[in-house]
Amino acid sequence: MTSNVEQTVLVINCGSSSVKFAIIDPKTGHVYLNGIAEALTLDDARIDWRFEGKEKQKDTLGAKADHQKAIDYLNNKILATAPELLKSICAVGHRIVQGGELYTEPTLVDDEVEAGIEKCIPFAPLHNPAHLIGIRAARKAFSTVPHVTVFDTAFHQTMPAVAYRFAIPEELYTKHGIRKYGAHGTSHGYVAKTVCEQLNADPNNFNVITCHLGNGASVSAVKNGKCLDTSMGLTPLDGLVMGTRCGEIDPSVVFFMCDVLGYKVEDVREIFNKKSGLAGISGTTSDWRGITEGYENHDEKCTLAFEMFCYRLAKFIASYYVPLGNVDAIVFTGGIGENSYLMRKRVIELLPAVFGVKIDEDLNSKARAYLGGSGPIHAPDSKVKVVVVPTNEELVIAQSAFKFVK
Ligand code: AMP
Repeated sequence: MTSNVEQTVLVINCGSSSVKFAIIDPKTGHVYLNGIAEALTLDDARIDWRFEGKEKQKDTLGAKADHQKAIDYLNNKILATAPELLKSICAVGHRIVQGGELYTEPTLVDDEVEAGIEKCIPFAPLHNPAHLIGIRAARKAFSTVPHVTVFDTAFHQTMPAVAYRFAIPEELYTKHGIRKYGAHGTSHGYVAKTVCEQLNADPNNFNVITCHLGNGASVSAVKNGKCLDTSMGLTPLDGLVMGTRCGEIDPSVVFFMCDVLGYKVEDVREIFNKKSGLAGISGTTSDWRGITEGYENHDEKCTLAFEMFCYRLAKFIASYYVPLGNVDAIVFTGGIGENSYLMRKRVIELLPAVFGVKIDEDLNSKARAYLGGSGPIHAPDSKVKVVVVPTNEELVIAQSAFKFVK
């Protein structure tokens, strides 16, 4: 399996209590190993992993094991059984949620970059501290290869001020950095580029609306490969209806909940982030499959959740005709975008006829079988192409990191 591996990249994605990892060939996207350490710092910290073509394996990491322990386990226990693969790692790529205005490109990690990521913590208080722990642990464990950070916000740094500024006093932006930063940029950038390859279109003359729809969800307007607008804001709470996040909401709801109902700000934060979205509307599930099942069985709350998700997305898509002028393609990606033909059908149905977006029902409903989960699903007379493109953020991170080798 690993005897003739030449050069690979270790991709690391650290959350507050988890580390996802994968070893990828940056040239082909081939995945040799992937896995996840979960419940870190808790009593049942554990890790599971799978070598290409082999059974999944798992182990406990010991009570309260932290990110360093997980990364050391990867290095000393898992990779120790695959020395050729270990030797093939020529770079480590780290996914970073928030790079503020500091980073517009993948960046070679040094102490200054670590300090920059630390500076952006206020805008990603759950993610950036975990990323830093991961970077420090990985730099110790894999000290002889370059470490590269790939920022989710970088792709959105091309937005003009008219899109990224909030209509609040200027100094809140100039002194405190309060603005729209967006999220999922690595995915939006990847699918915007990939759809051009798939359609044989000129990436320098192509307007696309990219819909990344998973537990977190966002939509972007991309002109000639550059982001002009996106639905997530200062943090990944803004925009679309998500699994447990509320998305776009009148800020006065916060004042009302605190001033009139007596909630504390941290309660509101918890409710908006963890108990809202599909979970809040349906009262039962944050998972799109559960929502769809309820919708098909005419459950009232699931139907409302389904409709609100589609309605909000259709409104965003329609609004992106403003920055783009004309639209060549709409792309669906992410767990929901790639898999839910019912959602795609409903969203396109909700777009006004004047846009001329038409879906081929057969291609849409059988996208997996016909297209292997990837490809165009629009009708022949549609003015706009509608395409399903599976995202691959790990591959982008691996490719970005590989550019720094030598
Ligand atoms: P992600 O965050 O990209 O992993 O996406 C997670 C979301 O995708 C969850 O809401 C899942 O219910 C949804 N999802 C995954 N597979 C399917 C499927 N086959 N059909 C519908 N939704 C799916």
